[in-house]
Amino acid sequence: MTTTRRIQLFIDGQSTDGTGARTFEAVNPATGRVVAEVVEGTAQDVDRAVSAARAALTGPWGRMPTARRLDLLLALADRIDACAEAMAVAEIEDTGKPVGLVSAIDIPRGAANFRAFAHAFRSLSTESFQQDTPDGRGALNYVVRKPVGVVGVICPWNLPLLLMTWKVAPALAAGNTVVVKPSEETPQTATMLGALMREVGIPDGVYNVVHGFGAGSVGEQLTAHPGIDAVTFTGESATGRAIMTSASRNLKKLSFELGGKNASLVFADCDLAEAVDGTMRSVFTNCGQVCLTTERIYVERPIFQAFVAALAERTKELRAGGPYEADTNLGPLISAQHRAKVLSYYALAEQEGATVVCGGHALSLGGELSEGFFVAPTIWTGLGDAARCVREEVFGPVCHIAPFDTEEEAVARANDSEYGLCGVVWTNDLRRAHRVAASIRAGVVWVNAWYLRDLRTPFGGVGASGIGREGGVHSFEFYSELTNICIKL
Ligand code: NAD
Repeated sequence: MTTTRRIQLFIDGQSTDGTGARTFEAVNPATGRVVAEVVEGTAQDVDRAVSAARAALTGPWGRMPTARRLDLLLALADRIDACAEAMAVAEIEDTGKPVGLVSAIDIPRGAANFRAFAHAFRSLSTESFQQDTPDGRGALNYVVRKPVGVVGVICPWNLPLLLMTWKVAPALAAGNTVVVKPSEETPQTATMLGALMREVGIPDGVYNVVHGFGAGSVGEQLTAHPGIDAVTFTGESATGRAIMTSASRNLKKLSFELGGKNASLVFADCDLAEAVDGTMRSVFTNCGQVCLTTERIYVERPIFQAFVAALAERTKELRAGGPYEADTNLGPLISAQHRAKVLSYYALAEQEGATVVCGGHALSLGGELSEGFFVAPTIWTGLGDAARCVREEVFGPVCHIAPFDTEEEAVARANDSEYGLCGVVWTNDLRRAHRVAASIRAGVVWVNAWYLRDLRTPFGGVGASGIGREGGVHSFEFYSELTNICIKL
């Protein structure tokens, strides 16, 4: 049943229908049903959002004492916590994720991002150097930190509030203002955040949301806009390339968090039960729709059969279902289009000669979920390292497991990828843990763990997985401009 619920743009502190006449549909992936219509922004709306952000930057936000600005972000974190239930309902409607996941991770991390970056900015120092001069009087150098300006924030759909606030929180803490383009698949929580900003007293224009698509739409308009000083983007590597081209027109500062084809190395000396448990999470969390999921698992030959059997056994226990059903631990894929892509890889794997240990097909659930975008969790073995299914990011509930014989071979195969976002090592050998972890070409390596995040640490990828690091003080390297002041004494 189509509803007339409308998700609007948020510009200069106001919800608005913008200047265009077009809307697009918001679909619940668990049911395949349209839940709302979303106002599609126009180039004029982008202009207006950028102007509002510029005015706030040079006006009330720019003039506000830092301590007050950071207090407002802490108040915002409290408001997110207070509205957690409503935000979870919206996030679930947009993504179809199980309620347990959204309530434990997506929404609390939204609040945690504002707290972490407000505290990190408060305790940030800048450098100073005393310099010798030929006349003996010397000079003092110190550094002043300033915001970059108006930041364009372009977000994916897999962790909508979490990943958006991961960028907005440090941007605002550092004194910038933002124009956000959420994914067209998940428009709700970014929009709701606008109302919460107003409630806590963040000035109009500091946070703006313009809905729309990528190429030829709001995404591209933002990246090409001369009034945007920096673009922070999370999404596919191919989109990153398009954004870099578009942003080059006026040399914007860029931060990219992109795709991955992450490897997990399981050594025979690991705790097998722990490794299987961790691998279940690192493959199937959020139906495999996390940039950090491990789609390539390499297992030392003596435990290869046992590992594959144990993982397959545990995979059979996964329950696809509605987000509010108590035993659901596997949600749908985000869209019909994404399901078609994942299923095309399921078919390709068979063409490439994979052994399908389990899964490999779409899932039809009953009742109101009959039109949902579900697929079976899938394990492949038997593919060579050159197979497309071993090289390309699928972004679904799937992994390929291959045996290895030596540590050197395992590291070389893990590193044989254009991507380099994260790596995982399962071993109880301390020396090997350090040696292998340091040899993996990736931005993050976990040993005997996966997705254990400390928000103070640098996060990002190498190669096609990204440019730059965000997290803790590293975020402020991107969201600040530094001015060196040199005083002759
Ligand atoms: P996507 O690249 O298709 O879209 C991301 C955003 O970019 C959307 O808002 C989209 O509208 C916009 N966009 C698309 N084309 C654009 C263009 N030409 N110009 C400007 N904006 C454009 O990615 P997605 O499908 O939403 O997300 C999944 C991808 O994100 C996966 O590849 C995943 O690995 C990656 N990801 C990476 C991280 C990380 O931290 N490295 C985190 C989450 C997701």
